[in-house]
Amino acid sequence: MAGKSSLGLFIGVAVLVFSHGPVHSQTHSPDLARAAESAIRELLGASDALVLAAAARPGRPKGEAERPGAPERGERTVGPSRPVELPDTVRDVIRYHESVERRHLAVSTFQRGAEKVREKAAEEKGDWAVVLDVDDTVLDTKAYWIENKLVFELNKWNAWVREARAPPVPGAVDFIHTVRTLPRGKVVYITDRLDIVRDATIENLRKHGLFEDGDLVLTKKDASDTKNIRRACVQSGTGRCASAGPRRIIALFGDSLRDFIELHESDLNAHRRLELEKDPNWNESWFLIPNPLYGHWQKDFRY
Ligand SMILES: [Mg+2]
Repeated sequence: MAGKSSLGLFIGVAVLVFSHGPVHSQTHSPDLARAAESAIRELLGASDALVLAAAARPGRPKGEAERPGAPERGERTVGPSRPVELPDTVRDVIRYHESVERRHLAVSTFQRGAEKVREKAAEEKGDWAVVLDVDDTVLDTKAYWIENKLVFELNKWNAWVREARAPPVPGAVDFIHTVRTLPRGKVVYITDRLDIVRDATIENLRKHGLFEDGDLVLTKKDASDTKNIRRACVQSGTGRCASAGPRRIIALFGDSLRDFIELHESDLNAHRRLELEKDPNWNESWFLIPNPLYGHWQKDFRY
């Protein structure tokens, strides 16, 4: 996790990003910008925070246009006498998360997935399902991480989830609409959000057309309730999956390897890593949404 100063810089970048208009409008919230500014004040002290906040405001100060080398709007400087370097990689990670490039990757992954699901559904004789993770696969949780200074705390997380205000990940809504046009299919969400926030999760998904009655939302009951167990439930059509009946899973969408397979300690070695990189399921039945903000990749396969 980033240290205090780098975290402050990260939040500073958040102010810059949101003040100048992030790529998708759902996250352009004055409240979010205020929260980020407040975090800067706390982390860096009021005077530095004010400098950063001033830099984040749109518009060029009077007379600055005439000054050679004056920064363009949005350029990462904070005033004529105190250029601020924002070298921390966190800054670039958050920018990347909002970038055209990352959005394109998400949209094209869902488009490629839709093509494959269409093909497979046409070949499938029986009932089938598409399984999707929720956080940072179909709902964008970036706001939580900014508002909570990159710290995960379960109580804060659940409170944030209950607000049901996460915007959709680019490409997800169109993909789900496509799946719904295909016969014998079922949309299934398998998420490690807890059962106690299942209703709020459904509310959030429904807001964006990602949930309809009849979809399955399999939240986590307890620590032993792995995603693998819930995938097996979908395939067997038993227990909490009984209403959907047995179904073949024809595609999985996620932002983590664990959204596709269960990983064990014995998997975390160089040989297994190479195997996984070359797994033929990629882009055939496993569809990965890039998540540069957080994930198991931060601790898996470290040498
Ligand atoms: Mg996820």
